[in-house]
Amino acid sequence: MNEKDRLSEQPDPNAAELARQLHQHLDSLRAAGIYWLPVSREPAAPAAEGEKPTAQQLPLFAASDAAAPPAPDDREQRRRELALLAERVAGCQRCTELVVSRSRTVFGVGPIDAELCFIGEAPGATEDQRGEPFVGEAGQLLDRIIAACGMRREEVYICNIVKCRPPGNRLPTAQEAGNCREYLERQLELVRPKFICALGACAAQNLLGTSQSIGKLRGRFHDYKGIPVMCTYHPAFLLPGRSPHKKREVWEDMKKLLQRMGRPVPGR
Ligand code: SF4
Repeated sequence: MNEKDRLSEQPDPNAAELARQLHQHLDSLRAAGIYWLPVSREPAAPAAEGEKPTAQQLPLFAASDAAAPPAPDDREQRRRELALLAERVAGCQRCTELVVSRSRTVFGVGPIDAELCFIGEAPGATEDQRGEPFVGEAGQLLDRIIAACGMRREEVYICNIVKCRPPGNRLPTAQEAGNCREYLERQLELVRPKFICALGACAAQNLLGTSQSIGKLRGRFHDYKGIPVMCTYHPAFLLPGRSPHKKREVWEDMKKLLQRMGRPVPGR
């Protein structure tokens, strides 16, 4: 065997790394509820004038310096665009530090047209491992809050301000939140929730573009592009060892939200 043959039989470290990244990418998409991808050997040709574009031709966004096109009315088309958006997010490299600290992106879970969307700040360690938001200890508490409201986790949409885990679970920086804003806005346009619940100061301040404290923001409705937003404390803040006594205030906030949604308010 000559030197060339010997080298060609050795595993290519770049290929192994590429395979690892591809696995993580697919795991992230699966966690976001995406089980298929459009396949094409050739880049799709642009749609002819007057012709309806195919899924492969649908742009996720217009050029970054132009406004994104309005989200389509058709539910299936929005679901496809959301899948393509999750795919784009999975390959995003905008935040240098987060790209290094994340195992995978955590896009979001839930159905298109979910009535209610919960937004947190960023994935934690468990979320980063599983590719799904709010699945750690705080997520289990969120599940109990959702259940206490008479809903199921599967019927609400859940996502974060940033889609990658910050190192050491620090808060996302303003720059990182700004980098990810385009994804969040499009995600909300495509899912079209009728109500939003912002969990914690970071989510509430970034979503609403304010520096007011969560103590001042919580307990009343705000507006995000015509969608009523209730702000409340992050479930992680309510865990033992932090401020479990704030659960009562969260419950008050959730009752106000349920009332505005026209749903039964437990205990009333
Ligand atoms: S946080 Fe958002 S903008 Fe930053 S790298 Fe992750 S997906 Fe990209």
